[in-house]
Amino acid sequence: MRVKRVIVIGGGAAGLGAAYKIRRAAEAGCDVDCVLLEKDTRLGGKLATDIVRDAEGGEYVIDGGSDAFISGKPAIGRIARMLGIAEEMVPAREENKKTLIVKGKRLIELPDGIMMFAPTKLVPLATTPLYSWPAKFRMALDWFMPPKVRWAEGETAQDHDETLESFVVRRMGRESLDRLAEPLVGGVHASDPKEMSLAATFPNFLEMEQQSGSLIKGFLAERKKREEMRRKYPPKPGAKPWAFFNTFRRGMQQLTDGIAGAVGAKRIRTGAEVASLERISEGWRVTLASGETLDADAVIVATEAWAATRLMREIDDDVADLLASIPCSSSATVPMAFRTEDCPADLAWFGILSPQVEKRPILAVTLSSSKWPDRSPEGRVLLRGFVGGPQNQRMLEASDEDLIEMVRAQIVELLGMKGDAQPVIASVYRWVGGMPQYTLGHLDRVDEIERRCSDIRGLALAGGAYRGVGIPNCIESGEAAVSKVLGDLGIEYAEDTAAPARER
Ligand SMILES: Cc1cc2nc3c(=O)[nH]c(=O)nc-3n(C[C@H](O)[C@H](O)[C@H](O)COP(=O)(O)OP(=O)(O)OC[C@H]3O[C@@H](n4cnc5c(N)ncnc54)[C@H](O)[C@@H]3O)c2cc1C
Repeated sequence: MRVKRVIVIGGGAAGLGAAYKIRRAAEAGCDVDCVLLEKDTRLGGKLATDIVRDAEGGEYVIDGGSDAFISGKPAIGRIARMLGIAEEMVPAREENKKTLIVKGKRLIELPDGIMMFAPTKLVPLATTPLYSWPAKFRMALDWFMPPKVRWAEGETAQDHDETLESFVVRRMGRESLDRLAEPLVGGVHASDPKEMSLAATFPNFLEMEQQSGSLIKGFLAERKKREEMRRKYPPKPGAKPWAFFNTFRRGMQQLTDGIAGAVGAKRIRTGAEVASLERISEGWRVTLASGETLDADAVIVATEAWAATRLMREIDDDVADLLASIPCSSSATVPMAFRTEDCPADLAWFGILSPQVEKRPILAVTLSSSKWPDRSPEGRVLLRGFVGGPQNQRMLEASDEDLIEMVRAQIVELLGMKGDAQPVIASVYRWVGGMPQYTLGHLDRVDEIERRCSDIRGLALAGGAYRGVGIPNCIESGEAAVSKVLGDLGIEYAEDTAAPARER
């Protein structure tokens, strides 16, 4: 039988996940092969690690985009085991796990017992200076307040979508949103709480309200369940310590490189921007910006939503319109390293969150050298500022030099360092239109996109714009796209993707 060719457009986590699954199918005997086309000269999309040296030769591992994946989602562990790089996964240094929140000129430690933004311990809530007394009482009211509506049998969070702002203000009050939920929960998606769909991002909050009657009760029940699981399945002696956040020893690039190696250099083309996509009698024709054309039996579009909009315009106007209705916001990360002697003594924390109400030009700071092992040389501290997001798009018009100086000044002030402390290295990673915004009704739009695409033979969309921005979600969406197009091509391929119990 003729070997069928699938073109994967976009070399981020979704495109890599798709290409690798096609290779596994080919190795299992299916008559299929792939070509991965990436417009940038570098593969990985939002996974971008640089190994940088300072003037004295000290080495830094810098992730300019994603720097972590969570243990609860199995896709990365599964892929890493298949690639033989599971030993390279490293957990965050739990001993430094502390989050600091900016309030005025102070950094306030996230009180013990806060789960997401819900307090589950009375004394730390009572004593924290993070909230005013009226706000603390208002948060406690959540315990007594019934759900806004009772869902009918079979209804889900999607039927009762609500914005993060509306939900948190309703359950816990404005200050709970402004001081924590906005920077923490909204921050994960770099989203505006006024627009952000809870059904698409944290449906568990809406479910908890239904099941437990209150968020505090829901989170308490969740904590009890976790503690029971820990008692029932204690870690085996000598096992790697468990952490919520993980990364790779030499940065997220290791995942990109591992997959690229398994897919094979001859199937990957970087610097290959796809300009258009068209149906031809026997399949698909892809035209590159250079004018070159490539034909394929199937195509997986694994680009950002705005890039997919352009490619889908000729194929299905309605799908293109729906894709165009997924807004994207831009952001930048600004990593920089300081001499340890210039920094405060207490560096046992992961990060700082700066709520929008503080009106600072910075959203967050990660202390990479405390969060991860071996990120900076002895005597140096590696930090990463995060700027932009939907409410601060104008800031990204600043030059790299100005962004670096702005982030430096914020770090110096927040950490109480000497005003003239200068970084030994600094850089800027810009992510233009890099964060899809899951706004109210997002899941309904994605359902409609998928419904329409299911009728287009040999075509699938994949990526963080649809059902989860996390890297594991993106990999899985690439894999799901492969299942769809292989099905269209009449190729049967099933693999056991079950994860060991610990990771489920
Ligand atoms: C700053 C930042 C930090 C993040 N941190 C985390 C984190 O710590 N953990 C986590 O799980 N998630 C994180 N995320 C989210 C996560 O990184 C992304 O959702 C995910 O990597 C997106 O993968 P993707 O394959 O969908 O898209 P992308 O990585 O955006 O890949 C799409 C690719 O398509 C290419 N492309 C576009 N148009 C064309 C074309 N016409 N022709 C050819 N190629 C094209 C692009 O160049 C790009 O490489 C972060 C995101 C950002 C922006």
